[in-house]
Amino acid sequence: MITEKDKEYLKRCVTLAKTALNEGDEPFGSILVSENGEVLMEDYNHVAGGDHTQHPEFAIARWAATHMTPEERKKAVVYTSGEHCPMCSAAHGWVELGRIVYASSSAQLTEWYEDMGLEASNVYPLPIQEIIRDAIVDGPVDELAEEIRLLHYQKNMEV
Ligand code: ZN
Repeated sequence: MITEKDKEYLKRCVTLAKTALNEGDEPFGSILVSENGEVLMEDYNHVAGGDHTQHPEFAIARWAATHMTPEERKKAVVYTSGEHCPMCSAAHGWVELGRIVYASSSAQLTEWYEDMGLEASNVYPLPIQEIIRDAIVDGPVDELAEEIRLLHYQKNMEV
């Protein structure tokens, strides 16, 4: 279930996705929130330099591995504008972070790419639950997904 508080965190992710877009990167943003609601880290996509592993959820997993205890990680929540890709899901699973809440799903992103006539990526858009055992996942949120859809169209359909 997605609460109003969850939506507030997701809105911050959408803002970060806009920042990424403005910097020439892909529109994705994510934040890491502690058990007591504190935002511990936020990041956005940085693939414009050519390194396509520079995803915010991956950066968050590695930050959490260095800065949090296993117990803190299990209780933390990762909010993200777009569902984790398999690489980021695996990183999240390896460091045993807790719940994931996403505003838009990988299935939606795949549809949008098809609609824009773009080629599918090299990496299969598998849902988080196919990568992480017993994952706790919530999403998408329709009104925010629509906002994110527009960012992807802005990125890829520039006139
Ligand atoms: Zn990723």
